[in-house]
Order: sequence, then structure tokens, then C-alpha cells
Amino acid sequence: MECLQCMERISEYLDHELSMTECEDIEDHFVECSDCLNLKNELNTLCEATRLSIESIPVPLGLTDKIILSIQAEKQRTSKNQWLTAIFLLLLSSPLLLLLTRAFSRVFYLLYVIGTAIGRSLMTLFSVVSPWFILSLGIFSVIVVITSAFVIKKLIHDFQLNEVFQ
Ligand SMILES: [Zn+2]
Repeated sequence: MECLQCMERISEYLDHELSMTECEDIEDHFVECSDCLNLKNELNTLCEATRLSIESIPVPLGLTDKIILSIQAEKQRTSKNQWLTAIFLLLLSSPLLLLLTRAFSRVFYLLYVIGTAIGRSLMTLFSVVSPWFILSLGIFSVIVVITSAFVIKKLIHDFQLNEVFQ
């Protein structure tokens, strides 16, 4: 290893960021080159002195409380902003909601009208045809609905499996 390469990597070496083989290469160079070894020792001393001087600075009283209070204040501010955003979006979307509500009420009215018509038709059918025929028709309808549900479920399941395996 050349001195330039070694100097470029000393900082990484001191921060334990090099691989084992890279460390061994640098350490081999330290054995051969006293300049690089001295540089490493000086940097190491400087780092240690910096660490000690930082640790010797006393932490101001109440700093922890101040940090916690400022975090809580930030949280409250964020929460308040979220509420404001939600209210703003609700206000913005209220015309759309009104429109949807009217559309839904029309759909419900339509369903009510259809239901009433079906009910009247059934009442007419009950008065004309025998009740046993209606009962067997109802049972047959239930069986058809259940079978259809199973078939649709199976179709969906097979479709998903095909999608996965293709
Ligand atoms: Zn060197």
C-alpha cells in the first residue's frame, strides 16, 4: 500500500469502517511507514481529545424537559393541522356528498318502487296460484342463489390461481 492510499483511508480505519483485510493492509503499512503511523496516532489523539472536551461540557439544566416539551408542542400542532385539513376536505367535498346523497335517495326510491311492484305482483300470484307452488318456487330460488354463489366463488378462486401461475 502507498502512503497516499493509506492517508485516504486512515479516517475510515479509525472509525472502524473498513473490512478486516483492508485493516490488515493498513496495519502492515503502519509497520513499514513511521510517517503514516504518526499521522494515525495524531488523529487518534485529536479524536479522543475532542470526545473528552465534548463530554466535559455540562448539559444545561432542564434541557431534557425543554426537548420533551417542544416535541409535545410539535405533536399537538401537527394534530391540530390534521384536524383542520380534515375539516377543510370535508367542507370541500360537501357539495359532492350532497349530490351523492340525492343520487342515493333516488336509488332508494327506485328500489322502493321496484320492491312495491314485485310485492303487488307476488300478491296477485298468491291469489291465483296455489301456495305450495309458490313455496316450492321459493325453495328452488334459494337453491339456485346458493349454487350460483358457490360457482362464482370457485370461478374467482380459479381465476386468481391462473393469474399467479401464468
Ligand atoms: Zn506511509
